[in-house]
Amino acid sequence: MDRDIGLDRLASETHWDFLIIGGGATGLGAAVDAASRGYRVALVERADFAQGTSSRSTKLVHGGVRYLKQGNLSLVKGALRERGLLFQNAPHLVNPLSFIIPNYSWWEGPYFATGLKFYDWLAGSLGIENTKMLGKEAALEEIPSLRSEKLHGGVMYWDGQFDDARLAIDLAATTWENGGLALNYVDAKELIKENGRIAGALCEDSISGKAFEVKAKCVINATGVFSDNLRQRDKPAANKIIQASQGAHIVVSQELLPLKSALIVPKTTDDRVLFAIPWHNRVIIGTTDTPVDKIDLDPKPFPEEVGFIIENATNYLNVSIGPDDIKSAYAGLRPLVSLKSSGSSTAKLSRDHYIETSESGLVTIAGGKWTTYRKMAEDVIDRAEISSNQQHRDCRTENLKISCGQPKPEGELLHPDLPYTINQIEHSISEEMPRNLEDILSRRVRALTLDREAASSIADNVASLMVAKGIMAEDKRSASVEAFQAQAASSSSESVK
Ligand SMILES: Cc1cc2nc3c(=O)[nH]c(=O)nc-3n(C[C@H](O)[C@H](O)[C@H](O)COP(=O)(O)OP(=O)(O)OC[C@H]3O[C@@H](n4cnc5c(N)ncnc54)[C@H](O)[C@@H]3O)c2cc1C
Repeated sequence: MDRDIGLDRLASETHWDFLIIGGGATGLGAAVDAASRGYRVALVERADFAQGTSSRSTKLVHGGVRYLKQGNLSLVKGALRERGLLFQNAPHLVNPLSFIIPNYSWWEGPYFATGLKFYDWLAGSLGIENTKMLGKEAALEEIPSLRSEKLHGGVMYWDGQFDDARLAIDLAATTWENGGLALNYVDAKELIKENGRIAGALCEDSISGKAFEVKAKCVINATGVFSDNLRQRDKPAANKIIQASQGAHIVVSQELLPLKSALIVPKTTDDRVLFAIPWHNRVIIGTTDTPVDKIDLDPKPFPEEVGFIIENATNYLNVSIGPDDIKSAYAGLRPLVSLKSSGSSTAKLSRDHYIETSESGLVTIAGGKWTTYRKMAEDVIDRAEISSNQQHRDCRTENLKISCGQPKPEGELLHPDLPYTINQIEHSISEEMPRNLEDILSRRVRALTLDREAASSIADNVASLMVAKGIMAEDKRSASVEAFQAQAASSSSESVK
């Protein structure tokens, strides 16, 4: 991916079939879908790819055990199918993971095992491994720090796990490979209307400040928690549909919490589930469900959320987690869709996706999950074809392989506690359009998510590689490193006090 070539194309080519606004899971999925159908598609993201919600998930490719409990079978079945397709199409980013539900009463084992065997059955031929009941010793073997008093055993089931930001970057690359265009740091400032119909957007390259009109037969609003901004630019009187809900996570070391399987806490104090999941040699613990009104691209975990996570995890674990144990903490905003202004809890709002076409032809897609991004993309492109009178072309993503961008690590690690090497950073700089240190250290590799101190300590090395490749000026280097280190320090310190 070459940003300069992409910008030239965006500014010079006329009459795209689709212009997609938003470069998270939803928009990038739609761009891959449209490009692979042979459409002329351009996607613009005003920050970096996946800088919003799509790099801040729990990293599960799952049907959603919680939704099974809520009885939403069609959502679970559809998501299990998508889980299976992702295993086939992006094997470099998705791996199977076993989960343990610990049982502290005699009836919990058969109760959870029955539900989870049904979950396996719903997955059909795309299932992973079968659910099984474990005795106390076997459960402790998987999660040695599980509280052992009154422990009867556990139920082990399987789901998928992935790297969310890497999948986003690889979807952008897949869009390019299929003839489409996906560009970061291009802001869709205004919608263009002709005769009352949406005809494109006025876009601005945030790096150079250059503005240009991008005309398209159909504009798709895939801006997640920001969806109402564009909907109201199209129609100022449009009612809001997004109810954002924050979810926070903390990251600790595997030495503190060694896990062979992930832990699922089946019932938190607010009647949800909580996970402790091994990921890239760390453990991610979360999440929360906190309704918020302030929509921020970079939300921070609230101290109460961190307290909630620690309390609910340590109800089941024989470890104590203090501020110094937290390697990193992050939060994201779920773009939940609420079609009526009820005051019901966000934990109960549907995780299904929602598509609407406005009177002037703006197609908005919101809600859903990372796991279902491919189906969401198929649905929105089908709808966008109709709303812009374009002849239907069949979706081709069921068997479309996702590009595998990141090379295997070669040579010395950049930091002993991080699994990344120079060849991987150099590849990202040349091929994956990062513009700053955070783009690289947070999303091309996941250093900032895994360990903020380790990420800070390699920032200068990475900056020199950026200078060498000509995407950072030498005189900006030390200021950039300092800014990144300040950001890394603030990224979780306030939350974990
Ligand atoms: C805490 C948490 C945990 C989750 N865990 C899981 C999980 O384990 N598994 C799972 O399947 N799903 C999970 N999800 C859900 C999943 O992460 C989201 O459904 C998905 O990432 C939403 O993607 P999106 O593209 O709709 O939104 P976003 O990722 O927010 O993308 C929208 C983008 O639009 C851009 N934008 C806004 N306005 C403009 C404009 N004018 N011009 C250009 N660009 C613009 C923004 O910068 C942003 O990058 C989780 C969500 C949260 C919050």
